[in-house]
Amino acid sequence: SDANLFTALRAAFPADMTRTAVETDSGLHYSWRDLDEATAMVANLFGFLDLAPGSRVAVQVDKSVEALVLYLATLRAGLVYLPLNTAYQSAEMEYFLGDAKPAVLVCAGRNFGWLSKMAFLAGTRHVFSLNDDRTGTLLERASHYPRTHTPVSRAPDDLAAIIYTSGTTGRSKGAMLSHGNLLSNAQVLQQHWDWKAGDVLIHALPIFHVHGLFVAIHGALINGSTMLWCAKFEPATTLRLMARATVFMGVPTLYVRLLAEAGLDAQSTRHMRLFISGSAPMLVDTHRQWQARTGHTILERYGMSETVMLTSNPCKAADGERMVGTVGRPLPGVQLRVRDEAGQPMPTGETGGIEVKGANVFQGYWQMPEKTAQEFTADGFFKTGDVGFVDAKGYVTIVGRSKDLIISGGYNVYPAEIEGYINNLPGVEESAVVGVPDADFGEVGVAVVVPLKGHTLDGPAMVTTLKGMLANFKVPKRCVIVDALPRNAMGKVQKNLLREQYKKS
Ligand code: ATP
Ligand code: MG
Repeated sequence: SDANLFTALRAAFPADMTRTAVETDSGLHYSWRDLDEATAMVANLFGFLDLAPGSRVAVQVDKSVEALVLYLATLRAGLVYLPLNTAYQSAEMEYFLGDAKPAVLVCAGRNFGWLSKMAFLAGTRHVFSLNDDRTGTLLERASHYPRTHTPVSRAPDDLAAIIYTSGTTGRSKGAMLSHGNLLSNAQVLQQHWDWKAGDVLIHALPIFHVHGLFVAIHGALINGSTMLWCAKFEPATTLRLMARATVFMGVPTLYVRLLAEAGLDAQSTRHMRLFISGSAPMLVDTHRQWQARTGHTILERYGMSETVMLTSNPCKAADGERMVGTVGRPLPGVQLRVRDEAGQPMPTGETGGIEVKGANVFQGYWQMPEKTAQEFTADGFFKTGDVGFVDAKGYVTIVGRSKDLIISGGYNVYPAEIEGYINNLPGVEESAVVGVPDADFGEVGVAVVVPLKGHTLDGPAMVTTLKGMLANFKVPKRCVIVDALPRNAMGKVQKNLLREQYKKS
């Protein structure tokens, strides 16, 4: 039987194919038939190129419905989709093209000149352009092909996509995800998040990462749900769309920006069923403000490029309460455990490395067999690199990443714990605690703190305050006051940059 993810998504398209599948913020409507025919045409074009099985289609384009079509067509043609962050410049593109060796590159027309040269040098034979106004050579070429296409048959373990990790802790690694990985996770989430007929998703995330590409798009498609498609996140637009939508997915920074909209309240969100957050930790304060303003409790979940979604807070009341500050329980089919460095299981409530196993866990890092082997335990669990604990009710709390852990005078310091205390001090918007080398203690913490608008903070005074609250080894040596924390496209704080910046002096 065919395990192609596209076949499963296509099977969920509604019987009435004239209905709207995607509506854009510029007023375009795409029916389910449009999606079916457009993906067939692009898949036929790819079929004509006669590429070897497993060939990669690398894509760096602005967000558009045609980019969504390109993703689905790649699945349909049995090729491997490889999305790249639109922020990447020449040095980064050279690394990714050289590493991934794609057979096809699709890029924005404005980059075609230099990128096609670079791609040809890396051995890529086919380069197409695709712009966000439906122009470019990809669509021109595809327009000559038939509107019907039989999906190329795939086995569950065949690759569907390679997703480069966000590069938060170092150089991005290509996580190889199979059709089976993606489909199993989409099905589990449809159940767990209680997707209903008539649900409508606001899609405002970038589509080069797991969150926007898989969680959001698969979620809507496998439920036959309409997407309200935003080329860019714009808080006022999202707020307006909530009157017609039921589900929204965002990274924490999107919620913070929505909270700055005066019109956000119970009335403007009354049509919404579910707000989901992930990709980075959400501040407890953001959760509380959202509850106070709208009456909705944001559902926080946890996942990563290598595993798609791992844990989620409950959606249905019968599954329990949403616990703010936690990422919920392991999803059905996900085994999750916490162990120390020596591989000893940690008792309930105690902190260690999070390890996972399940049909969602990836096939390994692209062309990094040693790294892949290192990150799996002898009994087949993947070491996520995240540090956390599981409470008596089975809820998981993430306290940071193992690479961000600070070992000061032999004691483990968990940045998230210290950040929690700092964030609760008056006048503090948010903070990041990083470890820097220290002659006496091996490492010490430096707190980088952003004041609330209109407040001024005194770094040395904050250190004194924290000394009265925390064991000495946990107290940051310095508190540095800054205007903003460095963040990447997914809203993740780039602690590697902060460590670099504050390691001296
Ligand atoms: P790299 O692996 O290259 O350093 P990255 O880990 O940031 O980058 P992603 O795979 O995009 O790349 O992100 C996954 C990580 O995001 C998780 O390992 C976890 O640290 C973090 N994360 C995701 N959701 C949450 C959440 N709800 N709370 C806290 N952290 C989260
Ligand atoms: Mg990672």
